[in-house]
Amino acid sequence: MNVFKFGGASVKDAAAVKNAGEILKLHSNDQLVVVISAMGKVTNALEKIVDAHVHQTGEALSLLDALKNYHLHITNELFSDPKHEVHNKLNNYFVEIEWVLEEPPRDYDFVYDQIVSFGELLSTTIVSTWLNDNGLTNQWMDVRDCLITDNTYREGKIDWETSTGLFQSRIKELFTQANIIITQGFIGSTTENFSTTLGREGSDYTAAIIAHIMNAEAVTIWKDVPGVLNADPKHFSDAQKLIQLSYQDAIELAYYGASVIHPKTIKPLENKNIPLHVKSFLEPNSKGTVIGKDLETKPLIPSFIFKSNQVLISISAKDFSFIAEENLSEIFSDFADSGIKLNLMQNSAISFSVCIDDSPKKDALIEKLRTKYKVKYNAGLQLYTIRHYYPSTIESLTVGKEILLEQRSRTTAQLITKDLPK
Ligand code: ASP
Ligand code: MG
Repeated sequence: MNVFKFGGASVKDAAAVKNAGEILKLHSNDQLVVVISAMGKVTNALEKIVDAHVHQTGEALSLLDALKNYHLHITNELFSDPKHEVHNKLNNYFVEIEWVLEEPPRDYDFVYDQIVSFGELLSTTIVSTWLNDNGLTNQWMDVRDCLITDNTYREGKIDWETSTGLFQSRIKELFTQANIIITQGFIGSTTENFSTTLGREGSDYTAAIIAHIMNAEAVTIWKDVPGVLNADPKHFSDAQKLIQLSYQDAIELAYYGASVIHPKTIKPLENKNIPLHVKSFLEPNSKGTVIGKDLETKPLIPSFIFKSNQVLISISAKDFSFIAEENLSEIFSDFADSGIKLNLMQNSAISFSVCIDDSPKKDALIEKLRTKYKVKYNAGLQLYTIRHYYPSTIESLTVGKEILLEQRSRTTAQLITKDLPK
C-alpha cells in the first residue's frame, strides 16, 4: 500500500478537490491511504474562532458563519442536489463546534484542539463523499479511532503501541471494502476521547505515522511546488528543485525551518526505509523530489532557509561573573517552560546568546530572566541558515546587512543579520 497526503492548498476549492480526484484516478489500482488537511486556510480561520472564544470578544459566532459559508460555497459546487446527505453531515460538525462555543472557555490549548480539529473532519467528509459520488469508491476513516496521543494539547505525543494495533486492524478491515481510505491529517485523540492536534502543518507527520505502522511502500506528499526546492521562492528569486535528498538533509532542512515538510515526518520513514516523494499536484506526472535511503542529495547546491522577525537575546550575570552550567540549566528550563524554541544559541564566558522567533511569549520570558540576569535584546532581525554553503554564497547574501552573529560547521552556516539603514 501507499500513503498520499494532500495539504490545504490541494483541496482549497471545488476545482482543487476535482484535481485531487484526477490524481487518485491515476493510482486507483493501488491500495491507498489518503491523508488530507483542512481546506485552504481553514486552520487559521479556526484559530481565530478559538481566540475570539477564549478572549470572549463576541465575534466567535460570526467568524464561524464565515467558515460555514466558505465550505458551503465549495459543497454547492461539488454537490448539485441541495438535499444531498453531505450537507447534513457537515451541518452536524458545525453544530458540534457551536456546542464547544457554548461552554465557558477552559484551558486555551484544550479548547484549541476541540475546535481546530474540525477543519480536517470537514475536508475529509467533503472529499470522501465527492469521490464516492464520482466513481472513486473509498472508505472514510476517523483517524481519532486509531491515532492515540497523550493529552499534550496542540502537540500530542503519539502512543505508538496502542496506535499500531488500532491502525493495523482498522485499515485491514477497511481495505476489504475499498481500495482507497480517506482520513484526516493533523488530529488524534486521547484515550478519554478528547481530540488532540499534532502541531501546525502536522498532516505530513500523520502520513508518516501511518506509513510506518503499515509498512507502506512509499509516501507521496502533493504540494503546490514542483518538489523540494533549495530555497523559498518567496525570498529567493532563483530557487531550484532538488531531485533527490538524503533523509539526513531532509531532516536538517525541515529542522532549520524550511517549510517543505514537517520536521517530525522523516524519522518514522527513515526507520523503515520508506521513500518520501514530494510532487506537484499541478503537474502530477512530473518527477518531483524523492527522499530516501542511500540517496545523496542532488544536485549538491546550497539550500537557503530564511526566517524573519527574529529576536537575539543576550543574557549575562548581573555582576559580570561567568555564565556557568547551573545558570545555563536554569535558563534552558525557563525557555522550555515558556514553550519558546531556540533557533540558534552561542555562549561565551560572560554571556549566553539565543535567537528565537518573536512572539508575545518572549516579553514574559525576558521579564522573568531579568529578575536574575542582565538581559539585552535586539528585535526585527533575520536568520539565514545555509546548508552546503560556499563562502561566496554568504557574501552575496549579506550585502546591505550587518551580521550580528555567525556560526559555521562543515555543512551548515547560520547568520543573524540586521538591515543597514539605506
Ligand atoms: N491543517 C493543519 C494546518 O494547517 C495541518 C496541516 O495542514 O498539515 O496546520
Ligand atoms: Mg494546512
